Amino acid sequence: MRTSDDLSRILRSIDGRGYGGYKQILGTYDLGRIELSVDHVQVDPYAPPSRMRIFIPSQVSQIPQDLLADREGRIAVGDFLTRAFESASHSERAVSIAHPGQEILERTSVIADHDGIEARLTVQLPAAGRRIRGREAENILLRRLPVLADHALTAQAIDLDALRESVTYLRDWNDLRRHMDATHVVAFVADGSVLPRAAGNSDKPLSADPVPFQSPESLRTSFALASGRVVTGMAIPAGITLIVGGGYHGKSTLLRALELGVYPHIIGDGREWVATDPSAAAIRAEDGRSVANVDISPFITNLPSGKDTHTFTTSNASGSTSQAANVMEALEAGTHTLLIDEDTSATNFMIRDAQMKALIPDSEEPITPLVDRVASLRDDHNVSTIVVAGGSGAFFSQADLVIAMNTYIPDDVTQRAHQIAAANISQNPPSARTEDAFSEALRHDRIVQPASLHPADKKKPAKAIGRTEIRFGREDIALSALNQLADNAQTAAIAEALECIAQEADGTKTARSLVDEILTWVADSGLDALTPRGKYMGNLALARRQEIMAALNRYRKLVVAPSFTS
Ligand code: ADP
Ligand code: MG
Repeated sequence: MRTSDDLSRILRSIDGRGYGGYKQILGTYDLGRIELSVDHVQVDPYAPPSRMRIFIPSQVSQIPQDLLADREGRIAVGDFLTRAFESASHSERAVSIAHPGQEILERTSVIADHDGIEARLTVQLPAAGRRIRGREAENILLRRLPVLADHALTAQAIDLDALRESVTYLRDWNDLRRHMDATHVVAFVADGSVLPRAAGNSDKPLSADPVPFQSPESLRTSFALASGRVVTGMAIPAGITLIVGGGYHGKSTLLRALELGVYPHIIGDGREWVATDPSAAAIRAEDGRSVANVDISPFITNLPSGKDTHTFTTSNASGSTSQAANVMEALEAGTHTLLIDEDTSATNFMIRDAQMKALIPDSEEPITPLVDRVASLRDDHNVSTIVVAGGSGAFFSQADLVIAMNTYIPDDVTQRAHQIAAANISQNPPSARTEDAFSEALRHDRIVQPASLHPADKKKPAKAIGRTEIRFGREDIALSALNQLADNAQTAAIAEALECIAQEADGTKTARSLVDEILTWVADSGLDALTPRGKYMGNLALARRQEIMAALNRYRKLVVAPSFTS
């Protein structure tokens, strides 16, 4: 392997030359305590910065081996060291690492295992105009970068207690998830949790006097976790749960916390002990989205256009049809808990009241609202629904549990809600229990047509733009409606996953099976399975099947052939 002297020599020899000369530093160097690999050199000073990796062997990093003994430990260490490196690198403008949000995720920015720690960075190689500043590059790569690595990635320099705490936390959180599964709890919020966020555009905790969460007595449950820690809080059982309460009393804040409760959170976030069924999907209206061959017939039939809703396709869905498609796609992705907020729902998709039924008979209304379908989802398909509805009592009779938020504190009002529903039965008759409304629609397979993923005008690989957009060929895939897409790095991983799906689609595979195939690669060999060999991207984080399928489903040129399995 080449040494630091070799790197010095090259950098001095190209000093003052044209920027393209930097290409000569590609390769791996033994710098003594660390190894440096230059994987990609930017073509000019204004191009995206160069990609490099540093490797710190375990004898140097001294991260305790017991923290790396399981997958949870390695994920927690990688996530923690990414944050440590990020804060240490603020002083070094030329060097950066992926910027993580509040969620702890499997990431490629720092990969930790028994051999050592690999950090993936970008480095802005210094220039004067378009000429190489070789001496400055030498300073950055041979002096400041090793110091930075020492400060951020070795046991001697970091807060080892905090690292240990976050590994224990992640192991406990996963244990909480196992306890929840075993006891059929779909969502849990610990007493003392801080759910509100600092601002509409910040996911940091609200610092000004948040009201800590407090479970209603009837729902208070304790779980003893792997480390011996006991967490106590509100356990929402599988079934139909309604969240009610006055405006501005914290309903949406609670639901939002449940949406992101599919992920563990960093210590200090306030939502560390919020956990939700990992398959849970936030469902909203999303008018304008495209839909490719989705069977929305459980909710919508006999559209005035005569469109077949068993294979519903549109480039411009309405509020109700988009929300119906979102539900059906979530079920296709294996979702067992639906999270729905009235604030972002189409009213006619959610409910229809007695007066409206008197005016417009059922026979003339294409929509069967969610309120008439939640019981079938629960009883026939083991799908739970948690719905926020402050404006209508329509869900009272359906709900197994009714939680009222009052100045941010939940109260169990199930009995009163059921009494009110019983007293008003004439106004709001329960819909006749019908046959399973979903089984036929759920047998509808969607086979991805490969040609649609290889448009002639697509010249470059798919690319994430921030958190909410992916450019795929000439199409922009809009992801801003995906409430549970938490991190730019997940979006970057989804862009790579779409490339893999395009490669693997062969005209026989369903959307679901393609996504599962890609996720198996990742489970077997890590997130690098998504990128070409030797590319070593540092900006990826694991995304769920739900979000990958959601991105595919929002690609406007997607063509899927319906087929029915019997
Ligand atoms: P709702 O959906 O019931 O109308 P929101 O959940 O939107 O209410 O909350 C209204 C406001 O109250 C938001 O600004 C939110 O940040 C704040 N809030 C929510 N929960 C708390 C809490 N526990 N402590 C302090 N403020 C809170
Ligand atoms: Mg609200």
